Amino acid sequence: MRYISTRGTAPALDFQQVTLAGLASDGGLYLPESWPTLSTETIAAMRGMSYVDTAVTVMAPFVAGVLSDDELRALCTEAYGRFSHAAVTPLVQLDQRHWLLELFHGPTLAFKDVALQLLGLLFERFLSGSGKHVTIVGATSGDTGSAAIDALAGREGVDVFMLHPKGRVSDVQRRQMTTVLAPNIHNIAIDGSFDDAQALVKAMFNSPDFSGRFALSAVNSINWARLMAQVVYYFYAAVRLGAPERPVAFSVPTGNFGDVFAGYVAAKMGLPVAKLIVATNVNDILHRALADGDYSQGTVVPTPSPSMDIQVSSNFERLLFDLGGRDGIALAAQMAGFESSKAMRLTNAQREGAAGLFGSDRIDLDDMALAMRWACEKSGEVIDPHTAIGLAAARRADLGDVPVVTLATAHPAKFDDAVERATGVRPTLPARIGDLFERQERYDSLPGTFDAVTAYIAERAVSTR
Ligand SMILES: *Cc1c(COP(=O)(O)O)cnc(C)c1O
Repeated sequence: MRYISTRGTAPALDFQQVTLAGLASDGGLYLPESWPTLSTETIAAMRGMSYVDTAVTVMAPFVAGVLSDDELRALCTEAYGRFSHAAVTPLVQLDQRHWLLELFHGPTLAFKDVALQLLGLLFERFLSGSGKHVTIVGATSGDTGSAAIDALAGREGVDVFMLHPKGRVSDVQRRQMTTVLAPNIHNIAIDGSFDDAQALVKAMFNSPDFSGRFALSAVNSINWARLMAQVVYYFYAAVRLGAPERPVAFSVPTGNFGDVFAGYVAAKMGLPVAKLIVATNVNDILHRALADGDYSQGTVVPTPSPSMDIQVSSNFERLLFDLGGRDGIALAAQMAGFESSKAMRLTNAQREGAAGLFGSDRIDLDDMALAMRWACEKSGEVIDPHTAIGLAAARRADLGDVPVVTLATAHPAKFDDAVERATGVRPTLPARIGDLFERQERYDSLPGTFDAVTAYIAERAVSTR
């Protein structure tokens, strides 16, 4: 399998290269050259399969030529063996139409563990013994950082510099990052929003001077391997609800468009997906883009669902590329327009292409709290604010009797204050991380400027020169 850039000019890469590279050298994002498809029989045969076997079936075409099925199985067994639930991502029924897919049973209690536990092992496999060293630079609205740090702490050949917006991640999220004291982990709190942090990371990658000095790599959801790992659970859930004979809809609490793009890939591979509902909070750029074709950046409003407080959705570019006929040169021009004016219109082809599969909704604070109470009262399920946004959108969507799976993206204890405010129930951390508030923290605070952050990293990272 070869991978090509959405902006048309970076060289095509294989799976190993694309995993280590993250962002493409032309500023674009990598995608498979073509979508592999799975036959109806192959999908039907997933019904009784374990999570690991499902993962191998779904991901094998993407790693072909780089990892054998047995090598892939060994990595998945190790990655998903660290989850605390035997089903890895269990389905929980709420009523006759609604299900939750619990993606938060990994080490840091958010769905990002599903991808990052595997990515950490892929990095180690591709780097250890090679004499190579990579410097991971990332921005996090909370969950990516903790999941990446857990997956990469102490691993050979990797340093991690993780930027989080100071004071805008929850205490649990911050402590999950800052209490990891491994010497290859560097936490930086910057003044600004998540978008500011993400823009700094992009600027570092786009600076030939800086990125030429260090072998920079990304673990944000711009990294293809992460999206690939997330495709698996769409298959895993849908076959348990009747696919491939019965189509299933998904409601996805969305920020950077990574998780829901994985659902799009599942549909491209042949999974009968009735609808992908893109659920946003009041930071609704994706809802506006899908409903009206208006992709224009607003000001970020902090909410109780901080992992979705985003006004630029990096992975949306992948969808626009695929829907727009995979014309990298045209897309590069469209994205350059967006980067200079902070606004763009979707083309007719992009709008029409999205209309069949995607729905969208914008959920405000009241509707979020109502969804949390509904889940609690109807089925005794305590859900986190992100999941509640997905569930509120799922309940409002008009989908007849199609089963709707809301992706439950975080454990409620990660957002205990918001959950208690809405439901009166204070969720508690699982015993395995219950001592989080006793652990020592370590991080540095910096102004959100390119010069301050690059100077900090340059002092500590391994130079390739
Ligand atoms: C990251 C995250 C999201 C958003 O996922 P994207 O892939 O960025 O769309 C939603 N909920 C939680 C809890 C998250 O950590």
